[in-house]
Amino acid sequence: MPATVIDGKELGQTLRGDMTKEVSQLKEQGITPHLTVIIVGDDPASKSYVNGKKKATAQTGIASDVIEMPSSTSEAELLEKINDLNHEESVHGILVQLPLPDHINEQTVIETISPHKDVDGFHPINIGNMMAGNDTFLPCTPYGIIKMLHSYGIQIKGKHAVVIGRSNIVGKPVGQLLLNEHATVTYCHSRTHNLTDFTTSADILIAAVGKPNVIRAEHIKQGAAIIDVGINRQDDGSLTGDVDFASAAEKASYITPVPKGVGPMTITMLLQNTIKAAKGLSRFGR
Ligand code: NDP
Repeated sequence: MPATVIDGKELGQTLRGDMTKEVSQLKEQGITPHLTVIIVGDDPASKSYVNGKKKATAQTGIASDVIEMPSSTSEAELLEKINDLNHEESVHGILVQLPLPDHINEQTVIETISPHKDVDGFHPINIGNMMAGNDTFLPCTPYGIIKMLHSYGIQIKGKHAVVIGRSNIVGKPVGQLLLNEHATVTYCHSRTHNLTDFTTSADILIAAVGKPNVIRAEHIKQGAAIIDVGINRQDDGSLTGDVDFASAAEKASYITPVPKGVGPMTITMLLQNTIKAAKGLSRFGR
C-alpha cells in the first residue's frame, strides 16, 4: 500500500490558525509578538526565504520587520545592529538570515544574538539546553519534524531513527530531539561506509543531505517513516528533495513530499518560537 503523505503545508496552516488566536489574545494583553529579520547582501534564495517568513508573520498577526544591509557590511556593523536589537524591548525575536558573506563569522553572529531572542535556536546556550532536554528555543526545522511525527501519530520511542546529515542546523539537532524522545539514533554522513546497511534498518529515516535521489526504495525498510529535508533546485527550476518520492512512497508507511513537507513546518516553528519569546518563556525570562 502506498505511504501516507505527511502534508506539512496543511499541518502548518492548522498550527498557524491556533497561533493566530494566541497572538490576538496576547495583543489584548498589550503584547504584540515582534520578529526582526536581518539580511546581509542580496542572495536571491535568502531573499525568497525572508519574504516567506515575512508573509507568514503577517498571516498570524506577528509584527515583523526586515533590516536589509549591503554585502559590504562589516562584521562589527552587523554585531552593533544585533546588540541594538538585543536591547530593544519591543523586539522579541531576532533572526539573521544565513549564509552570510565570507568576511563575516557566522558563529560570532549567532553568539551575539541574545539567547532569549534566539528564535532560530542556534545559540550554543539554547543548543546546550536542548541537549539537556530543557525547555528552550528549538531549532525550527528539527522542531517541525518532531511536530510532524507527533501529529501523524508516528511512534518515536524505542524506534531506530537514522539521520543522514550532521549539520548544526538540521542533522545534529534532529538526532538529539529524537534521542530525547527515546529513539535509538544513528547518524550517517558523507564518510559513512555502506550507507544502505544503516538506512535499511531505519524505522524513521531523516534525509538532510542536499542531493537529489540519495534515497530510493532499495535504501529503505518496508513500512518506514521517511522525512525528506532536502531542497534541491532542478534544471527546470522546480524543487526536489533528497528522496526519490515515487519509489520510496511504494515501500514507506509515511513520507514527506518536497515541496509542501518540511519547509512550511520550519517557518511555522519560527512563528511558534517568536510567540514563545514574546511571552517571555525562554529559559532566561526577559
Ligand atoms: P549541509 O550541507 O550543511 O549538510 C549536509 C550533510 O549531508 C552533511 O553532514 C554531509 O556530510 C552529508 N552528506 C553529503 N553527501 C552525502 C552522501 N552522499 N551520503 C551521506 N551523507 C552525505 O546541509 P544542511 O543540513 O544545511 O541542509 C541539508 C538539506 O536540507 C539541504 O538541501 C538544505 O537546503 C535543506 N534544508 C531544508 C530546510 C527546510 O526547511 N526544508 C531547512 C534547512 C535545510 P559531511 O558532514 O560529512 O560533509
